[in-house]
Amino acid sequence: MLNPRDVTFVPATVSGTVAPADARAPLRDARGRTKRKLRISLTDRCNFRCVYCMPETPQWLPREQILRREELLRLARLFVTELGITDIRLTGGEPLLRADAVEIVDALNTLRPLGLERVAMTSNGVRLTRHAAALRAAGLDDLNVSLDARTPEVFHALTGGEVEPVLDGIRAARDAGLPVKINSVVIRDHNEHEVLPLLDWALSERMTLRFIEFMPLDGRGYWNAERVVGENEILDALRTRHAVSALPQTDDPARYFTVDGDQRFGIISTISKPFCKRCDRVRLSSTGTLYACLFSAGGADLRAPLRAGADDDALIRLVRGHIWNKEAGYAQRPGYVERPITMHVLGG
Ligand code: SAM
Ligand code: SF4
Repeated sequence: MLNPRDVTFVPATVSGTVAPADARAPLRDARGRTKRKLRISLTDRCNFRCVYCMPETPQWLPREQILRREELLRLARLFVTELGITDIRLTGGEPLLRADAVEIVDALNTLRPLGLERVAMTSNGVRLTRHAAALRAAGLDDLNVSLDARTPEVFHALTGGEVEPVLDGIRAARDAGLPVKINSVVIRDHNEHEVLPLLDWALSERMTLRFIEFMPLDGRGYWNAERVVGENEILDALRTRHAVSALPQTDDPARYFTVDGDQRFGIISTISKPFCKRCDRVRLSSTGTLYACLFSAGGADLRAPLRAGADDDALIRLVRGHIWNKEAGYAQRPGYVERPITMHVLGG
């Protein structure tokens, strides 16, 4: 078992220096990128089987490997109070399959006076009819809901689930007063013909839609370059019916566009136009492994030192050391990522 005293700085491989020793300094990497956003995966479990995410026959992780609520909250507190994280997004797997998801949101809210500015969630939407009001009451700021198609058959072929409960969940979230953005992964020969109907629907509902390029992180080796429908192709499809103009780039991973001079939509063009140079996020898997990047081949295990009794300083040093060495990103190493973890464990 790891002795907390053995947890020290990891030497940087990039600039030959080590992570800053100042315990209160913002979390940075050696390439000058400051981290403000933390994504926490609450569980690897899911009630959908999206072809772009899940293995065909997922083997759920043993429950003792998943961070307990108090462990997760201790880490979240350190990230906010000592490492400058201002935004936390809960994801999964499906975060609402975790029985204590609302309690976690509630507890994260106590970190607001300590520097946390936003608590958000990404969900497949199915359980929102049950939980939206409680999530709002617990202090959730906003939600991203995945919806890759509005045609029931297309939706089912992509996710293994039904579209109606998702639409009901979106309605429930909005009725509860939660701002909702829609995420749609676009995959060739699956849903590229849904791009226009999805946008028209989002416009009519006055919701922001973000198309996502298919990333090579799925659990069944389904990704290949031909299946990626890139930003330019998505724009060409939308321009057959709408006037589309690019907006100035912000810190958001999505590039935003106005449509017919009025509302806006986004495209997360990770594959065709990677945004690695301005990436401000880090990720904690449901098992407590810290990943500097979605495309990292490995992470830093925080759960073992946590369970071995590591003090706050040791955990902070471990986090700083790992993030300091963050890779350049997908832009430097495009293509399929061979690694032992997939999207449903790490969280998208
Ligand atoms: N279950 C929730 C959901 O589906 O929204 C949260 C977890 S899911 C892994 C988070 C986001 O990652 C979703 O918007 C999903 O569409 C996206 N995603 C999953 N696999 C992806 C892939 N291979 N490429 C691009 N986006 C992906
Ligand atoms: Fe589940 Fe979300 Fe992955 Fe789909 S994308 S399988 S809903 S975790």
